[in-house]
Amino acid sequence: MPEKKQVPIAEGLFTWPSDDPRLIGSRCKNCGEVTFPAQKSCPACCLEDVDNIELAKRGKLWTWTVQGFPPKSPPYAKKETPETFVPYGVGYIELPGQVRVESRLTENDPARLRIGQDMELVIEKFMDNDQGDEVMIFAFKPVDSGS
Ligand SMILES: [Zn+2]
Repeated sequence: MPEKKQVPIAEGLFTWPSDDPRLIGSRCKNCGEVTFPAQKSCPACCLEDVDNIELAKRGKLWTWTVQGFPPKSPPYAKKETPETFVPYGVGYIELPGQVRVESRLTENDPARLRIGQDMELVIEKFMDNDQGDEVMIFAFKPVDSGS
């Protein structure tokens, strides 16, 4: 059987396929404002003079919560029932000198999440789509202390 294709959930969110994937944001050439996802114009000064940049891979957990029930679908892409749903962490990651990114977290245990902890970008499987491909999303995972 051929290997499953891994497709990003949306184009332009992160570099993929890649051994060292990064989120793709934009930086304003005029005022330096960084946004994620990348935008065509700067939300701070409204000029359309932005560069796409690869964002930092690591940041700090700024705030978080645990999503304890299935989000409304649509826009939530995954077909789930309250029985199949697994709670997941969601939070904001402060990328140093860049931007705060809203992201899914790999960890859903409140005891293992704390504000200010180091987090690292990972690309993980979200679901299988109707073509049998694996749909990939980005998430942040806690960096083990000591590593
Ligand atoms: Zn600007």
